[in-house]
Amino acid sequence: MTTQPAAAATRATVFGYPRQGPNRELKKAVEGYWKGTVTADALHETAAELRRATWRRLADTGIDEVPSGDFSLYDHVLDTSVMVGAVPERHRAAVEADALDGYFAMARGTRDVAPLEMTKWFDTNYHYLVPELGPDTVFTADSAKQVAELTEAVALGHTARPVLVGPITYLLLAKPAPGVAADFEPLTLLDRLLPVYAEVLADLRAAGAAWVQLDEPALVEDRTPAELNAAARAYRDLGAATDRPKLLVASYFGRLGEALPVLAAAPVEGLAIDFTEAGAANLTGLAGIGGIPGKRLVAGVVNGRNVWINDHEASLVTLGILLALADRVDVSASCSLLHVPHAVAAERDLDPQVARWLAFAQEKTEEVVTLACGLARGTGAITAQLAENRARLASRAVSTLTRNPAVRARTEAVTDNHARRSQSYTERVIAQHAHLRLPLLPTTTIGSFPQTAELRTARAELRARRIDAAAYEERIKDEIREVISFQEKAGIDVLVHGEAERNDMVQYFAEQLDGYVATQHGWVQSYGTRYVRPPILAGDISRPEPMTVRWTRFAQSLTDKPVKGMLTGPVTMLAWSFVRDDQPLGDTARQVALALRDEVNDLETAGTSVIQVDEPALRETLPLRAADRAEYLAWATEAFRLTTSGVRPDTQIHTHMCYAEFGDIVQAIDDLDADVISLEAARSHMQVARELADHGYPREAGPGVYDIHSPRVPGVAEAAALLRKGLEAIPAERLWVNPDCGLKTRGWPEVRDALDNLVTAAREVRATLPPDES
Ligand code: GLN
Ligand code: ZN
Repeated sequence: MTTQPAAAATRATVFGYPRQGPNRELKKAVEGYWKGTVTADALHETAAELRRATWRRLADTGIDEVPSGDFSLYDHVLDTSVMVGAVPERHRAAVEADALDGYFAMARGTRDVAPLEMTKWFDTNYHYLVPELGPDTVFTADSAKQVAELTEAVALGHTARPVLVGPITYLLLAKPAPGVAADFEPLTLLDRLLPVYAEVLADLRAAGAAWVQLDEPALVEDRTPAELNAAARAYRDLGAATDRPKLLVASYFGRLGEALPVLAAAPVEGLAIDFTEAGAANLTGLAGIGGIPGKRLVAGVVNGRNVWINDHEASLVTLGILLALADRVDVSASCSLLHVPHAVAAERDLDPQVARWLAFAQEKTEEVVTLACGLARGTGAITAQLAENRARLASRAVSTLTRNPAVRARTEAVTDNHARRSQSYTERVIAQHAHLRLPLLPTTTIGSFPQTAELRTARAELRARRIDAAAYEERIKDEIREVISFQEKAGIDVLVHGEAERNDMVQYFAEQLDGYVATQHGWVQSYGTRYVRPPILAGDISRPEPMTVRWTRFAQSLTDKPVKGMLTGPVTMLAWSFVRDDQPLGDTARQVALALRDEVNDLETAGTSVIQVDEPALRETLPLRAADRAEYLAWATEAFRLTTSGVRPDTQIHTHMCYAEFGDIVQAIDDLDADVISLEAARSHMQVARELADHGYPREAGPGVYDIHSPRVPGVAEAAALLRKGLEAIPAERLWVNPDCGLKTRGWPEVRDALDNLVTAAREVRATLPPDES
C-alpha cells in the first residue's frame, strides 16, 4: 500500500502523558511532602522537572504539539474543581490557609474532614475525585495552574496545547454536595460555569495558547437529548467569544454516536476523535455527516490505553479516508497515555519476543510520530518502520504463546453443558445443606484476614532472597494456623485460610498462569500516589499446576469446620489486567475460566466443599453504552459458570462482589447461578438485600453487616439490627452473615472485635427464629 504525500500540514500530538516519572519520582515527592520530609518548594521543583522531562521526551520523539496542564499532583478532575473554584464548604478553610495543603485535604481528607469521593474514570482503572456541587455553588476562575504550566512549556520552546476537562464532562461527573437533594442535577449549573471557562480560555490565549483542548469523554456515553442540547449550547457560547484560542474538543473511549453531529456543528475549530476499535463507528459516523470540512481533525488511531503495538497499515487506511473528511488531519493516541506504563524499553526481564509486541507511552508516542510522518510525506518515508511493524504483528499472530493448540482445542470443545451445573439450585441446595450441616444464618468472611506488616516483610525478604521459599512457607503456615484458630474460637461457621500468601488477588493468580506476563516497571496510576502494575494477558491461558490447593488443604487439616476455597473470577482477572486486543474479550475470558475451572475441580477433589469465586469487577467492567451491555454480560456470566460448573451438586459455590449499587446487573448476578453471594451492604443499610428480593433472587445471599472500609467496629446490636433488616427481604434459610468485603486492610484488634460481635449478633437473631424444620 502506498499513500501519496497529501497532508503536508499533518502534526503529531498526544493528549497526556504518565505523570509519575520513569521511576515514580512524583510518588516519592508527594508522599515525602505528606510525611514532612520534602518541602513544598522541593515538591514543586520535582514536579516541574518531571514536566520538563516529559516535554523534552515528546519533542525529541517528534511530537509537534505537546500537551500542557495534563500534569497533576493528584488528579486532573480535582485540578478542574480548583480551576473553577468548586471547593467544598468543608475544605474552604484549609484551602485558604494553604493552597497546597488544602488541595491534598480535598484529595485525602484530614482528621476532621472527609475527602471528596473517589470513583472510576469512565471504564478505566484510574480514579478521579468527584466534584461536589449544589444550587448554591459559585464558580470562580483560577487559571493559575494552567497558565503556569503553559508558560513553562512555551519558555522551553515548545508549541503547547493546554488540556482541560470540558465543562459538560465536568458537570456530568459531579454529584450533589452533602446536604443537597439527591436529585439535584449539576448540569443545571452550566450557564454559571461557562463564563468561568471563557475566562480561563482568555487567560490561556493571553499566555500564548494558539489551541486549547477541552476533553469531553462523557459524550461517548448514552446521553439524553437535554444533555446533548447542553453540549451544543456550551460550545456555541464558548465559541462565540472573541478573545479565545482555537478550540479542540476531544472525545475518547468510544463512539460519539448522536453527539457527533452536535460537535460537528459547533463553532469550534477542531475535534479529536477515537478511531481505535472502541471508536470504530466514528469513521462511518463521520463519513455519514459529510465530515467536518473547515475543521482540524485529530485522529486517535493509536490505542492510548492498551499495551500492544499498533497496526500501522490499518491506521494508514483509516487516516487516508479521514483526509477527505476534514480540513486537516493530525495523528494522536486515542486518549491520554496516562493509562499505560512509561516505556517497554525499561523492562529488562521481559521475554524479548513478547517485548516486541508491546508499546507503552514512549513507544506509542513513536508510533504516532511514524504515522504522522507517513501521512505527511507518504508511506515511502516510513518504509523501514512499516516493515518492522509488519514483522512484529506477524510474529505475534503465529507465536505458540498466542496460539497454544491445546488451549484452543479445549476452548473450542466447550458446550453449553460445561457452563451449567448438573442440577438446579433447588435440587442441589438439599444436597449442600445435608452435606454441610450449617445452622441458620451461617457466619463466614470474604476471604482475606489482615495483611500484617510481618507478612509484607516476609514477602519482601523472599524477593530479596534473605529467606528461602521454605522459610516463607513456614511463615504463611503460621499465619494460617492463627487465622483458623481465631475463627474457631470466634465460632464462625465457614472458615477461610486468610489469603496471607497473596500479594494481590489478580497478580497472585496471573503469576501462576501460563500466558500471563508480568512487568517490572509497568506502573500505572490508579489514584493519587497509588500506582498498580497490572499483569498482561499476552497469550493463551493455561494452568500448569494447582495454585491454591495446598494452602486450602493445609487450613482444612487444622479444623473440622468447612474451609472455603478462594479464587479470583475470570472477569476480574481480565478487568485488572491489560487484555489482549487480538481476539474478542469473551474468548480470553473463556480461556481464563477453563484454567480456573481446573482449580475449582482440584479444590473439590482435595476435600473442599465450599468454593468462593470473587467477581468484584463484574459491574465496573460494564460497557459505557447500554447497547453493548447484553453482549458483555453474556460472556461474563458464561465465564463464571464455566469456572464453577464442574463440581458436584453438594459442593457449594459462593461469589462475592463489593459495590453497593448493582440494580442494573441484578439479572446478571442471578445468571451466575452461584449458590451463595456476599455483597457490600452495611453502608446502604441492606438496600442490596431489598434489591435482590425485589428481583426474586432465588438463592442464598450474605449482605455485609460490617463495613470494612472504616476502622469502626460495629456493636452487636448494630449488626443484629442489620440482620433483622436483611431478614425482612431474605428468608432465614437463605441469609448469610458476613462482613462487606475482605479484611486485608484492617488491623487485627478491630477484626477480632468485629467478628466476635458479628457471631454474637447472628446467634442472638438465630435464637429468635422459629425452630428449623430440616
Ligand atoms: N477474597 C477477597 C478478599 O477477601 C475479595 C476481595 C475483593 O472483593 N476485592 O480480600
Ligand atoms: Zn469485596
